[in-house]
Amino acid sequence: MFYRCGSCGSNMVYNFNKGTLECLNCGNMEQPELLPAAADGNCPNCGAPLDPGPYEIAGKCPFCGTYHVYEEKAVGEHAPVRIIPTTLTRVEAFRLLQKEYSRYVALVPEIFSDKRLNEVQTEYIPYWVFSYRVRMGYTGDLKERIFRGSDTIIKTRRISFSFEAVLNDVPKDASDRMPDDIMDAVEPFQFKTAREFRPEYLSGARAEYFNHPSEQYRKDAYAKMREKAEDLFCRKLLAAYPHGDLSESRIRSGMQLEVVSETCEFDLLPVYIYEYATESGRKFTYYINGQTEEIYGSVPVSRLRMALGCAAAGALFLGAAGVVNLILVLLGGAL
Ligand SMILES: [Zn+2]
Ligand SMILES: [Zn+2]
Repeated sequence: MFYRCGSCGSNMVYNFNKGTLECLNCGNMEQPELLPAAADGNCPNCGAPLDPGPYEIAGKCPFCGTYHVYEEKAVGEHAPVRIIPTTLTRVEAFRLLQKEYSRYVALVPEIFSDKRLNEVQTEYIPYWVFSYRVRMGYTGDLKERIFRGSDTIIKTRRISFSFEAVLNDVPKDASDRMPDDIMDAVEPFQFKTAREFRPEYLSGARAEYFNHPSEQYRKDAYAKMREKAEDLFCRKLLAAYPHGDLSESRIRSGMQLEVVSETCEFDLLPVYIYEYATESGRKFTYYINGQTEEIYGSVPVSRLRMALGCAAAGALFLGAAGVVNLILVLLGGAL
């Protein structure tokens, strides 16, 4: 179904800053009309066939651009518990990319031009979010320096150090479309702004429910949690024995960790995705954390342009910039 503006009939999308659905055409924020999907599964706005993937719970009609929310699929175990709202608009996300890559002279032409502003997609990625209570401990010999006047005495003693900690909100992305290493690279997400899920939040975005049960992600989540737990434990133990001979590697290898309890839930986290394909078929994809603005993507350079860029820098120095600029313009479409 989609949210239709009661005034002008256009599509309404959710605006988190205003806390309401808003018509992109006339700005109306009053109660929308809800239009269910046509019985034949076609877009109720333009009649084109909609073909959402098996996990898709929100998406865009490829023909008229209307945002649909497949509410009936986001129920029961497939209903997200929490959603972290975007704090950026799509335009702001695009501006971040422009800023990040503006320093490269050898840009692929057009890739970050304003003409492409509307190509940025908002995606709510399904994550299994794990929370743990753990007990950590370390027992071992410690050599400690004790200062007595001008003398330093080395004393060896046995120490036993332990505590319990709560490690909440360890996310593992649960969408096969999203490369795991990239999703790890756009972290962190701050869960304090997460809110209880409501279907209208998805109008204006693409979203999926988890592609596999949580069990499949448990091992990876444990490894992520273990890393955080070890960091925390090292910090605390080293602070407790500042004059000892403990090293981080010794603590990590000797530390005991026991999981006291573990929970996990299905949440949606925001990422902006921007794709660009050159005429020769080279593809560039950029990912922007919709909350904390972390960016992942490769620098869009071509070898030819890079070489010319260097030549241009040299020529500027020689006062021949005009000639080289002309060459760059002529080769603009040569990728
Ligand atoms: Zn309207
Ligand atoms: Zn349509």
